Amino acid sequence: MTDFASLGLAEPILRAVAGEGYTIPTPIQAGAIPALLGGRDVVGIAQTGTGKTAAFVLPILHHLSERRLPTPPRTCQALILTPTRELACQIGDNLKAYGRFVRLSHTVVVGGVSMGAQVRALSRGVDVLVATPGRLLDHVGEGTLHLQHTHIVVLDEADQMLDLGFLLPIRRILGRLALKRQTILFSATMPPPIRELADEFLREPMEIAVAPAARPIDRIEQSVVPVAAVEKRAKLVEILAPREVESAIVFTRTKRGADRVCEYLEAAGLSAAAIHGNKSQSQRERALAAFKQRRVRILVATDIAARGIDVDGVSHVINYELPNVPESYVHRIGRTARAGATGIAIALVDPEEYPLLRDIEKLIGRTLLDRPEQRGGPRGPKRPQQARPQQRSAAPRSDQARPARTGDASRPARTGESAPRPARGPHPAAAKSAGQPQQARAAGQPPSRRGSNSR
Ligand code: AMP
Repeated sequence: MTDFASLGLAEPILRAVAGEGYTIPTPIQAGAIPALLGGRDVVGIAQTGTGKTAAFVLPILHHLSERRLPTPPRTCQALILTPTRELACQIGDNLKAYGRFVRLSHTVVVGGVSMGAQVRALSRGVDVLVATPGRLLDHVGEGTLHLQHTHIVVLDEADQMLDLGFLLPIRRILGRLALKRQTILFSATMPPPIRELADEFLREPMEIAVAPAARPIDRIEQSVVPVAAVEKRAKLVEILAPREVESAIVFTRTKRGADRVCEYLEAAGLSAAAIHGNKSQSQRERALAAFKQRRVRILVATDIAARGIDVDGVSHVINYELPNVPESYVHRIGRTARAGATGIAIALVDPEEYPLLRDIEKLIGRTLLDRPEQRGGPRGPKRPQQARPQQRSAAPRSDQARPARTGDASRPARTGESAPRPARGPHPAAAKSAGQPQQARAAGQPPSRRGSNSR
């Protein structure tokens, strides 16, 4: 069984990892960390929830703290590109936690907030920069950031960056980096354009793949409720009203849809907040913070805003509308059953959405709803069917979700600022790889609470 010490990470990083309560590296960590420490380029095929962030953040912190190169003003040594603001802030949180005992600076640069504070943060130079591609290019265009000293780059969630139309910005950014560099690409899927990007910009990368994105984690109990489109809102209230629904994320396809559903839930007396791309950065942060701190029980979200939402203790994910892209279904339901807990995913599906449902079922290799047309009979909704009847875990859920990260980039955060987290059990993927039973948190042990880093 691999442990973190045998991966070759420096002692201060091992200490921070231990402080997070991680004992066994997840498969993506066990595969990628030694390769990255050896200086290789890496293509990682892994989705969120597999521990992939630590897989690239820990080697970056290791390299930079060992080399101790100065970072000139308006430059960064390592650059992590992510598709969304939320994911960027999430990675910023991880940098802070994992880099607690090394003296490296990091900052997060995303759109939707003013450039002034970011310009000030960049003016001193930052060791590790986390950014969304559009805003990063704004800074490059303004001359407030130069990339020629950047010798480590990570493309995180590359497939989603392409979905969001970031291919050209990514190519522009990669073209400006130091030629002698380490390039790391993480993606949940490997469609041809990502493969081409990897072929063009990575040098003999080591490819490491873990649990394909098509397999939703086993601890999620999935079901489908067939319902006419006009009855969806009432059905949603019926599902969410009981107190057992401790904390739920509801997915809609459109931003307006998210607002309307949120208003309806509030009118029905349920506490809800909406998060989507039309909301300002501060509105998104407020909504997410309220959800994490359990001041609102329900978060209504579109796919874009949901990337990077890593909240322990989300008990339910409701697909109010099915996504057009089947992979998004897998990603959505992965917002529950985090950190070893179990979760429930319910999809409200009207007959018009059956083709989308069929695509999802094909992807996950499982029938979620027994429909007449599948048996060659007449079309029409059937009663709900449990895909995998399962007992929900009796383990207590978090009532102490981590404080929200604001993403304020007014100064580069020193990585040594956050408090250690209480120990947590092995990551389920790690436990699995080590031949142990999948394990939720030890009974009675509080879920993790990260450092006091809300700024
Ligand atoms: P990620 O895939 O990076 O979004 O990580 C998913 C979750 O797994 C995060 O909450 C991490 O804190 C947690 N995690 C990452 N690595 C480990 C590990 N080796 N053991 C236990 N938990 C981990």
